[in-house]
Amino acid sequence: MIIKDMCVFALGDNKENAVKVQQGEILEFHTRDCFNNQIDSEDYVMDVLDWDHINPATGPVYVEGAEKGDVLKVEILDIKLDDMGTMCCLPENGVLGADITENQIKKVPVKDDKAIFNQFELPLNPMIGVIGVAPENESVPCGTPGRHGGNMDNTKIAKGATLYLPVFHDGAYFGCGDVHACMGDGEIMVSGIEIGAVVSVRLTVLKGVSIDNPRLEDAENIYTIASSEDIEKAIYTATKDMCGILQKNLGYTLNEAGMLMSAAGNLQFCQVVDPERTVRMAIPKTICDKVL
Ligand code: CA
Ligand code: ZN
Repeated sequence: MIIKDMCVFALGDNKENAVKVQQGEILEFHTRDCFNNQIDSEDYVMDVLDWDHINPATGPVYVEGAEKGDVLKVEILDIKLDDMGTMCCLPENGVLGADITENQIKKVPVKDDKAIFNQFELPLNPMIGVIGVAPENESVPCGTPGRHGGNMDNTKIAKGATLYLPVFHDGAYFGCGDVHACMGDGEIMVSGIEIGAVVSVRLTVLKGVSIDNPRLEDAENIYTIASSEDIEKAIYTATKDMCGILQKNLGYTLNEAGMLMSAAGNLQFCQVVDPERTVRMAIPKTICDKVL
């Protein structure tokens, strides 16, 4: 099924118009870039950007059979990019915000599996910035990450990966958007190479398991993901969640699981520039291949 021409700017909005979808069917989400496709050239004047309508997530979809307390399994089957990306920098935004004196927009062509940034041909890492379900309580703007997913800007949410999200409402109300042609961990200037895309996913509902925060797996690793205004809290939560996975699946004590993470786990930044910061803890699948 193709999902297009419908989007929300806060996850949890517009539940009443959600499209009903079946588990197991392949869904193609046509996504706009994080600027809602408003920036059409490098001469665009940022002052006219409609900031109330940014970070659109295509959706929501109501997943038949999903009930509060379940886990929504999201297999990312493919990400097809448009051919032109956009970056920007803005005073007061990002790690160097205090040093930026003027706005700049950069258009970045994408072709032959490369992003053309000045003289550099950057390898692509197509990834989904905003992906999630309706949050537990009120709607959350798509620019903010949280336990429901949202703007996690995680470079590992890419083709071939499987994301696991807590379900807070019957139907889950899943949506996604904000694809990047590539992005570095941290997303320090607040934009990756922002681009429209077609994202293909398969959704499955898992019963009898529940999680507090998003989890992820790819070919090499399992990951816990956590977001907080205070990055130290996000680090604690991602580490504690992974500790729980290792204790449960390896039969380890907290001490043993902690030492194993300290020896072989990798704590990594997703983004450090959104209203809440997002980190992940990675453990190689050679150590534990179960993420639940
Ligand atoms: Ca983003
Ligand atoms: Zn983005």
